[in-house]
Amino acid sequence: MMKYLIINSGSSSIKYQVIEIPTETVLATGLVERIGEGSGRLKNIAFPGSDRELTTVIEQPIADHSQGMMLVIAVLTDQEKGVIADTAEISAVGHRVVHGGEDFRRSTLITPEVISVLEQNIPLAPLHNPANLDGIRVAREMFPAVPQVAVFDTAFHQTMPRRAYLYAVPYRLYEQYRVRRYGFHGTSHRFVAGECARLLEKPLDACNLITVHLGNGCSMTAIENGRSIDTSLGMTPLEGLVMGTRSGDVDPALHLFLKQNIGLELEEIDTLLNKESGLKGLCGMNDMRDIHSAAAAGDERAALALEVQTYRNRKYIGAYMAVLGRVDAIVFTAGIGENDPVTRAESLKGLDVFGVRLDPEKNNEHAGQARCISRAESTVRIFVIPTNEELAIAREIADLTSE
Ligand code: ADP
Repeated sequence: MMKYLIINSGSSSIKYQVIEIPTETVLATGLVERIGEGSGRLKNIAFPGSDRELTTVIEQPIADHSQGMMLVIAVLTDQEKGVIADTAEISAVGHRVVHGGEDFRRSTLITPEVISVLEQNIPLAPLHNPANLDGIRVAREMFPAVPQVAVFDTAFHQTMPRRAYLYAVPYRLYEQYRVRRYGFHGTSHRFVAGECARLLEKPLDACNLITVHLGNGCSMTAIENGRSIDTSLGMTPLEGLVMGTRSGDVDPALHLFLKQNIGLELEEIDTLLNKESGLKGLCGMNDMRDIHSAAAAGDERAALALEVQTYRNRKYIGAYMAVLGRVDAIVFTAGIGENDPVTRAESLKGLDVFGVRLDPEKNNEHAGQARCISRAESTVRIFVIPTNEELAIAREIADLTSE
């Protein structure tokens, strides 16, 4: 039995899980937040067996990631509520890393060389990669004797052909600065694709799928014979679908218009498109549950936001059907994709002509597990499959460390 610590380190937060392999049991899950701010917080939920759940909350200033990780270790090894006796019980640490650029086509064991390549990739993800690197540095100090594995959001999409990843801008921008589509959420798309292949009872490398990840961030991937061949997020996680606070596709000339007519600086426009747009920009709310309540109460803008988002989803599904030709299944995942039957139904509206037949009853069932929601006669099957990036990372570690 192995216990892995999975870490997702953000600029002011550390999300983590302890997962036991091969049973794939979650022993503990938690979040350290507001690192470097006045009032830090750690919340840990331990699952010490037989359906028991023990919650610990610690509120105190947390100066940096190092102190945050020390708190995590303290709760995990706590005599009363801990799930490990000491750090030696952790046999590997897995790190979610946002941007692997073109250097990483798959997960990798972390070495000093890997860290230096990640540092070189900081310009591609200036907000995320430094935070991921903080998590890696701290975990290497605290768990010096165990393998550390980096799992990249971009790696799954490295199989895209040039026609899908190149932007039609001067080619030298690609040659000199690696300006291109990378795509993100790769761990999630790959995970649900694998689960879908299992449900289809086909090998993944024989499956053509459209995977639709709708959370706060949203993206869609066209998967041909198990490999990503196109995806909606781009060089940064801003392109494509309408997201919680991110615009997705806009006319790139919008930047110039906003600068010339409103006097916004480039950084302000970047913030506007990343933090003040998407569903929030359209109706003032970015939580889908609030948007549904408001729409039901007659808020027209909330209804409009839903319409704009689901129309964009439909447009991309249509595009990826054209790209793939044969499609075995469409898979919905993440917070909205897993829980919102209205979004699923609206996103698939009008696709009957392509053999996509949603079963309204199955679509409306509330169930936490993976399930098929298409009619028997649908030539393209439709699934809801819960994503689980931490488990996907644990499986990657198991694969890599057993090689
Ligand atoms: P993240 O990208 O932060 O991981 P999630 O995958 O958790 O996000 O998805 C968050 C989104 O899922 C929010 O918009 C939230 O409102 C939505 N969501 C969660 N539960 C439901 C539900 N029951 N019905 C509709 N939307 C939901």
